[in-house]
Amino acid sequence: MLDNKKILITGIANKFSIATGIAKVMKRFGASLAITYQNKRLLRKVSSIAEELEIDTLIECDVSSDESIYDAFQEIKTKWGSLDGIVHSIGFAPSDQLMGDFTESTTREGFKIAHEISSYSFTALAKEALPILNENSALLTLTYLGAVQSLPNYNVMGLAKASLEANTRFLAASLGKKNIRVNAISAGPIKTLAASGVKNFRSMLNEYADRAPLGRTITTEEVGNVAAFLCSDLASGITGEITYVDAGFNTSAMSKIPLED
Ligand code: NAD
Repeated sequence: MLDNKKILITGIANKFSIATGIAKVMKRFGASLAITYQNKRLLRKVSSIAEELEIDTLIECDVSSDESIYDAFQEIKTKWGSLDGIVHSIGFAPSDQLMGDFTESTTREGFKIAHEISSYSFTALAKEALPILNENSALLTLTYLGAVQSLPNYNVMGLAKASLEANTRFLAASLGKKNIRVNAISAGPIKTLAASGVKNFRSMLNEYADRAPLGRTITTEEVGNVAAFLCSDLASGITGEITYVDAGFNTSAMSKIPLED
């Protein structure tokens, strides 16, 4: 499905990262992969994943810096010349923003950081990649239900994800004329490093499995399967979409209750 596709995966921090699940599936479907990682602190874990997946291009890229993004794409240009896809699996808000009452905890600085790292960075990567993106390229990002519904503790990150979803539609409109597609996956909650920053995440997982039609949470590889499809030519008619990979949670209004009291 992804033979001859050169895809850049961002956002691998460790083996639990959603981006790791995506990389595994994309590799299985024949993609050539390059990885960016945020900083040297993550290098040991990211290297061992790269080794396991036989990926030899690892590039440092901190999306809070335009210079770092520029350098990363210069390296890709030198190595590959062109690209067929980018997976943006990056999100961050300071931990004090992800607990307690929304109105009380949200600060100007927290709002700015959440939006810059979790949403603007998608535009920034698209901008810098544009000269080397082939026709039929696909860009993909990861969002969450908090973009469209409120829930405890997710707070300003929900606003950043709403921005990211709008970003997906605006990038799709902007890049469609070059036949570049832009989509997002809205994933159900998965225990990862980023997710553990949200207070009471474990309780959220239990509640989730209770209400989801499939009666369970999802895996990073299930996200990877849909990511591989959306970045492949099989999805050539899909752009600007938010696809839910969440065991159906967003479609269900209530937990299961006995039919008779
Ligand atoms: P994760 O912690 O494994 O990945 C988050 C990644 O963001 C890390 O690799 C981190 O290094 C990277 N990052 C943060 N700041 C960065 C910066 N300045 N520059 C470069 N990289 C930076 O957690 P994850 O759950 O795999 O998160 C991946 C994406 O999936 C995020 O956008 C997250 O919001 C989204 N998501 C997660 C869940 C979930 O429940 N885990 C659900 C829906 C969406």
